[in-house]
Amino acid sequence: MKAIDHILSKTGLSKDDLVYLLETRDRNERATLFSCARSTMLEHCGNNVGLRGIIELSNRCGKNCFYCGIRAGNLEVERYTLDDRHVVAAARHALEQGFGSVVIQSGERHDRAFTSHITGLLKQVKKLGCGALGITLSCGEQTEEVYREWLDAGAHRYLLRIEASNRKLYERLHPADSNHSYDRRVDALMTLQRLGYQTGTGVMIGLPYQTTSDLAGDLLFMKDLNIDMVGMGPYIPHPDTPLSQPAASIQSPEERLELSLRMIALLRIMMKNINIAASTALQALDPMGRVKAVAAGANVFMPNITPVGEACKYRLYEGKPLFDDMAVATLAGFEKNINKLGLDVAYHAWSDSRHYRERMHPAKNTES
Ligand code: SAH
Ligand code: SF4
Repeated sequence: MKAIDHILSKTGLSKDDLVYLLETRDRNERATLFSCARSTMLEHCGNNVGLRGIIELSNRCGKNCFYCGIRAGNLEVERYTLDDRHVVAAARHALEQGFGSVVIQSGERHDRAFTSHITGLLKQVKKLGCGALGITLSCGEQTEEVYREWLDAGAHRYLLRIEASNRKLYERLHPADSNHSYDRRVDALMTLQRLGYQTGTGVMIGLPYQTTSDLAGDLLFMKDLNIDMVGMGPYIPHPDTPLSQPAASIQSPEERLELSLRMIALLRIMMKNINIAASTALQALDPMGRVKAVAAGANVFMPNITPVGEACKYRLYEGKPLFDDMAVATLAGFEKNINKLGLDVAYHAWSDSRHYRERMHPAKNTES
């Protein structure tokens, strides 16, 4: 029996197994890994790929993550916050194009003006089509009260990447101050889960100082947390950030792409019915990056629908794809490519994570 067949026949993958599959150079083993992930996705998620439009609400951020282009310390960035009417227009447009969900993403702020702004926006977007759009938020760490207020206003999914689950690595990626705390990030994830959000996390892949053992640890972290959705993708250096400085060694784009696809495939095998996004950052490395992610087991596609003028200011990293008037053309191209894989885009659907439904209503859902 080949090593991979033995590993995949086990009920749970160990850290050593994961490191082996992240590192193997054997072409047959690589093909077996992706084919196992694809059939797992078909069996446990069906052949529909969920669709969400991302709206980048604001690039104002109070934090200073060392990797991020819109960190507070980057004085080169022109800051913006979208008008409500632009956000609502983008969401309405998405609804008319058949999107069943939107994601509202933003830099992290804690002031009342910001948190109330989000609450008001949620209520407006929720009214469109009488609640037709599912809403995911990705606005960083907030208090339990704020998360509850946003849940009550209509958000039902929340994305908060742990970024790197190894505490030591996390601490190398963030300033050592009270504004950037590993423990608070983990607590925030648990709070979201407890409040009843469909909870998503994720990591960056190919970071300086990161080892394959760290990545294997990330997969086990997500499994331990029993997370409902994951958005993870390659780290893309941004020139105006401390982490992109030459002292930090960065793997080649090909290596970061390959590792990202293997991470998706392994997570699909480990957590069969969660939602896994084909992250936007993949596209910065390869025009077919998101299609390859779906072929590796991702089941959610999230094109950017931020109104044009502002999208170019929301530069988390270099080469980030801009709006997608393009969103429509991008979607059409993506759809054609996934059709070739025997998959369809799920229009007019929230495409909730089956894992979440099972977690909340174990008796009604029997899928594993
Ligand atoms: N402020 C919120 C949401 C916006 S940032 C938050 O931090 O949670 C969204 C994601 O962009 C982050 O979670 C991070 O993983 C990703 N990101 C930031 N800089 C990046 C880079 N240089 N390469 C790849 N992803 C990056
Ligand atoms: Fe702000 Fe998020 Fe960027 Fe960190 S990753 S600087 S919290 S926008």
